[in-house]
Amino acid sequence: MAQFRNFKMVSYVVYGRGSFNQLDEILAPQRKAGAPMIFLIDHFFTGHALLNRIPLRGNDKIIFADVTHEPKTTYVDALARQLKEEFGTISGIIGIGGGSAMDLAKAVALMMNNPGSSADYQGWDLVKYAGVYKAGIPTLSGTGAEVSRTTVLTGPTKKLGMNSDFTPFDQIVLDPELCADVPANQRFYTGMDCYIHCIESLQGTFLNEFSKSYGEKALDICRHIFLEKDVWDAESDDKLMMASYAGGMSIAYSQVGVAHAVSYGLSYLLGTKHGIGNCIVMNHLDEYYPEGAAEFKRMVEKGGYEIPTGICNGLTDEQFNAMINVSLGMKPLWENALGKNWETIMTREKLRALYEKL
Ligand code: NAD
Ligand code: ZN
Repeated sequence: MAQFRNFKMVSYVVYGRGSFNQLDEILAPQRKAGAPMIFLIDHFFTGHALLNRIPLRGNDKIIFADVTHEPKTTYVDALARQLKEEFGTISGIIGIGGGSAMDLAKAVALMMNNPGSSADYQGWDLVKYAGVYKAGIPTLSGTGAEVSRTTVLTGPTKKLGMNSDFTPFDQIVLDPELCADVPANQRFYTGMDCYIHCIESLQGTFLNEFSKSYGEKALDICRHIFLEKDVWDAESDDKLMMASYAGGMSIAYSQVGVAHAVSYGLSYLLGTKHGIGNCIVMNHLDEYYPEGAAEFKRMVEKGGYEIPTGICNGLTDEQFNAMINVSLGMKPLWENALGKNWETIMTREKLRALYEKL
């Protein structure tokens, strides 16, 4: 492997309140005769006023993305199959929503041009062909999915992304106005995904100045909006959207750490969603991220957010082992967090004790 990562980035970025109104103009040059644009929209927006602002042309289609559960390979495959049967070819896919809807859009765009199942491409650089044109429009900030080169999917045997140079969006539209209706707890859970990305990246052994510059900026923004400000307002949404972008850029050149590695186990066994799962774990990471965990608790207290506890009560040895296996399988995360000798530090017993606390 090359010594320095040479990573593909999003091609076009537009930022600003109301920038969504430029979508028609942005998509025009991407349209191919007779091939529709597909708008894959988070099901939260069913019946929402935003639908009247979708620039539908010709045989364009709106599909509501069911994000009750995090994206599965079976769902991606079904959507791609449905589009191929109905239209043959399409001009592109526009994912509008949180990390789940954006990841679905990325994966379906890739599966329009790659054979087999999306499960075949869970891993690093397995995708063979470029997908169709794809654009991402976040309506919930924090995951960094808008800038990343992965789309996280739960498959038959693993929860792992389709990491490839074909995965980043061709275009993102960052319009903080779209985040106005997010419930406070959800906004916090997903916002904390960004905060935790920064802590894990900045405290990690893979850190370089590229990651650090973006991570520090995102962290400053999170502190400002979640600790210093007393009310959540439009400016807070403006800022969190940029924190998410910068946090995503920070991990593009480093890696996440303990909270993510442990949270993946919860997600695999219990279906715990990414944002809230990270929060449940961060609540107990004083040993690994003393300052980050303490600051996290101050943010929870200040905003009065609900962080579940006791979610591993009553699990069997077999269940604990399943979570431990998934978590310890995330080797790059542990190496980033604890260094090359991580296996001597994070033993199965130690990880079991941590899971028992959650
Ligand atoms: P989400 O997309 O799962 O959405 C959470 C909830 O918020 C849903 O109920 C959704 O309907 C609702 N919602 C979205 N926008 C809303 C709005 N404007 N108003 C009201 N409700 C709204 O949550 P998320 O935390 O953004 O994304 C989590 C997903 O992102 C996970 O599947 C995770 O694996 C993935 N992820 C991907 C990457 C990546 O790099 N690709 C990085 C981190 C996380
Ligand atoms: Zn994350």
